[in-house]
This record gives sequence, C-alpha cells and structure tokens, in this order.
Amino acid sequence: MGTTLIVAEIQNGAIREASYELAAFAQKIGHDVKSVVIGSGIGDQAEAFAAKGGGEVLTVDQDGVANYSVDAYAIAIKAAVEATSPDVVLVSNTPIGWDVAPRIAAAQDCAFVSDVFNYDDGAFVRRVFNGKLDARVTTSGDRVVATVQPGAVAAFEGSTSGSTKPLEVDLSGAAAKFVETRVAEAKGVDLSKAEIIVSGGRGVGDPEKFPEVIQPLADALGGAMGASRPVVDAGWLPHEYQVGSSGQIVAPKLYIAAGISGAIQHLVGMKGSNFVIAINKDGDAPIFEVADVGVVGDLFEVVPALTEAVKAAKG
Ligand SMILES: Cc1cc2nc3c(=O)[nH]c(=O)nc-3n(C[C@H](O)[C@H](O)[C@H](O)COP(=O)(O)OP(=O)(O)OC[C@H]3O[C@@H](n4cnc5c(N)ncnc54)[C@H](O)[C@@H]3O)c2cc1C
Repeated sequence: MGTTLIVAEIQNGAIREASYELAAFAQKIGHDVKSVVIGSGIGDQAEAFAAKGGGEVLTVDQDGVANYSVDAYAIAIKAAVEATSPDVVLVSNTPIGWDVAPRIAAAQDCAFVSDVFNYDDGAFVRRVFNGKLDARVTTSGDRVVATVQPGAVAAFEGSTSGSTKPLEVDLSGAAAKFVETRVAEAKGVDLSKAEIIVSGGRGVGDPEKFPEVIQPLADALGGAMGASRPVVDAGWLPHEYQVGSSGQIVAPKLYIAAGISGAIQHLVGMKGSNFVIAINKDGDAPIFEVADVGVVGDLFEVVPALTEAVKAAKG
C-alpha cells in the first residue's frame, strides 16, 4: 500500500475545512494517510486532525512558521516528505496551496497536477475549458503533488485513531521573513452576511451595466451585488464582490446568477445558497444544474423585468 501525505492548513486558529476535504479525498486514493500540520502552538489542531482523517500527523511546531512564508513552509513540507516518502502529496487549492505546492513538486522533481476535483480509477480528474470537459490525468514517476479544489468533495466525517509526532526542521535556510499582516479594509460590501445576492458575470459584458442592470435588482430585493471572477479580474468591480473559491464563500437565502456560466470555482462559492435562480442565454450552461429556477434568456431583458416586477410587488 502506498502513502498519501496531506498538507493541512490552519486558518483562524483551526484546521481549515478544505484540509478535512483532503482527508476525505485521500480515502478515495486508498493509501495509508499521513499529514503535516505547520505553525506555532498547533498541538490541539494537530490532535483534532489526527482524530478526523489525518492519520499519522507530523507537527512542525516552531516560531519560524508561526506565520505563513513560502520559503519556511516549503522547507517544512520537504522535511515531512522526506520523513514519510509519500506516493501522493495533497495540498488544497487555496492561496497558500497555489503558492507552495509547485515548490514542493519542484523540490522533489516530481509530477504536479493542479486543481483536481476527483480521483477515479488511478487518475486525477480536473475540469478544463470552463468546466465543459473533464481531463483524466495520470502521471509517471513514483511521486505526484496534487492540489485539490476546495468544495470538490465533502469534508471527512467520523472519527479515526490517528496520532501526532513532532518533526524538528532546520528553518535557517528560509530567506523570506514574515513582517506583518495587513487586513484590507472592507469597503461596503460584506457578501458573507447578505441574505440575498444578485451576481453578474462576464455575460454582463460592460462595467457600466453593473450599476445600471445588476445593482437595481439587488437594491429592489434589499440584497447585495456580487460578481464572478472575470468581472473582478477585468477591474469592473473590486475583489470583495467576487464569489467563488478565490473570492467569498456565501450562503444567502437567495442567489441570483446573471450571465454566469457556472464554473466549479464559482459554484464552490455559492453552492450553500438556499435558493438559486440562474439567468443565462445558453440553455446548456452548467449553472442550470445547480439552479432551483433557470431562465434561458437575455439578462438585459430578464433582469430589468424582474426588477420592475419586484418594485411593483412591493408597491
Ligand atoms: C484557481 C482558480 C480560481 C478561480 N476562482 C474563481 C472564483 O473565485 N470565482 C469565479 O467566479 N471564478 C473563479 N475562477 C474562474 C472560473 O474558472 C471561470 O472562468 C469563471 O467563473 C467564469 O466566469 P463567468 O461565468 O462570469 O464567465 P463565462 O464562463 O465566460 O460565462 C459567461 C456566461 O454569460 C452568458 N451570457 C453572455 N451574454 C449573456 C446575456 N446577454 N444574457 C444572459 N447570459 C449571457 C454566457 O452564455 C456564459 O454562460 C477561478 C479559476 C481558477 C483557475
């Protein structure tokens, strides 16, 4: 039996949900499971992970990794890889994962597969062409580093009898030093608390159309406006409007997606919504698969009509 090494992450003092998803993902691979937890004063978190799918958990518990820096983490993970000789290293496809995972693969001179959502019959499966195709990826060599999309599988449930073991690592080779964390000031929208969200995607086509078409429906419903990533990448709206795996994870009572195709990274951010209405002119758009109500039509006709109807209903 081979070994899968999970690189667990700590966020706000606890093991991230995405790490418990890696524990479930590792079950699909079927190897012996080992993990590494990195930070300072992380004994409780490591114990918690060992008891819930983490297997034998190595702890790199040192001041030098109290805050994330790619150099120090890469050194710590390299030491964990050397201590466990894994066939597969699983990392979450989170900002830390994007940063550190390629370094792990480069240091091991091994295969790297990014952004997978499934493991099936010896192959990693990843979505390509905006979710229109699934690619089955197999690798050569005896080791592979894979990043797994948050939300791709349900988090590990149940309890396991894992163990924890300290791993001493020499971090003196880390060139980057942590200086400070500055949290960006929120500028008005806090989508995580909104009960109704109306999001616009690339289909809106023009930054001017967000205040003209999308925001009025959000206002009429007493909700907030959101967006897909291309909208933010294009600079049409600031990042705090972005819903998805690299934006905000939201769970409103009502989510309206207009001109959004429904890529996995967007769905990850809004799949906890209670009721989803999708408006898209392409009847085959994947967003319709998660919608409670789907409207196949031009958003520039449907959204203003909806806005008027809501206003009329409110009197
Ligand atoms: C690592 C990584 C992280 C990512 N993180 C995120 C994330 O956090 N959030 C996110 O959203 N994406 C994210 N993405 C991008 C994601 O893969 C998709 O590219 C993105 O979600 C697509 O956005 P969209 O649906 O607005 O655009 P498109 O996929 O281009 O879809 C536009 C849709 O608009 C429809 N349309 C066009 N005109 C009209 C009209 N007049 N009326 C009605 N419908 C119309 C089209 O039929 C189409 O379905 C990430 C990607 C990667 C690789």
